[in-house]
Amino acid sequence: MPQKNPPLQNIKTNQTLHGFKAERIEPIAELHATAYIFTHVKTGARLLHLYNDDPENLFCIAFRTPVSDDTGVPHILEHSVLCGSKKFPVKDPFQEMLKGSLQTFLNALTYRDKTVYPVASQVEKDFFNLVNVYCDAVFHPLLTENTFYQEGWHFEVEDVSKPAGIKGIVYNEMKGVFSDFASHVARKITAGLIANKPFCRMSLIGGSIFCFHFCTLLRQILMNLLY
Ligand SMILES: [Zn+2]
Repeated sequence: MPQKNPPLQNIKTNQTLHGFKAERIEPIAELHATAYIFTHVKTGARLLHLYNDDPENLFCIAFRTPVSDDTGVPHILEHSVLCGSKKFPVKDPFQEMLKGSLQTFLNALTYRDKTVYPVASQVEKDFFNLVNVYCDAVFHPLLTENTFYQEGWHFEVEDVSKPAGIKGIVYNEMKGVFSDFASHVARKITAGLIANKPFCRMSLIGGSIFCFHFCTLLRQILMNLLY
């Protein structure tokens, strides 16, 4: 049976739409889609728009976040920007979207060299609401000091007769990752093969628990000196 041509939109090369200039338009037969590649005129940000007749709508905003140490900053920041923004100053917009939208996918992920924020929904209105919340989160986050303690790590005293414990969302996540033998071996092999390159850093996958501990040790020493 002959294949239909991929669907097209009324966009021409060099046309500017909402500040984005269409640089290239390519049909992708395998996906039955048309790819539109735009560049944001003011910032140089790149936009890939895949247009097809799939009922699913997906938006993903991604940032390059290569690092040079093991402190897990991109992962902690990935969590922290989702703790309230200028237009949506609620404690946990991510949970609100999970509960209160018709999303079919919603997440934020830190890779070895990038951080991505994907959202998907089959309902157009819902989809654009989610895009609005995610764009405000990444471009106008509140980022209070307490958010970093909450998402990164902090001391918590549950029982005054016992030593303070360490708590934190990313800290706990990384405790899980570092308890897994297979992922430990994979990290060591990567670190051995490409030593001193950003790709060998633990922070790319969320921060090294050993580095967290090192920071803790430093903080304890400082507190002992001060008090
Ligand atoms: Zn995480």
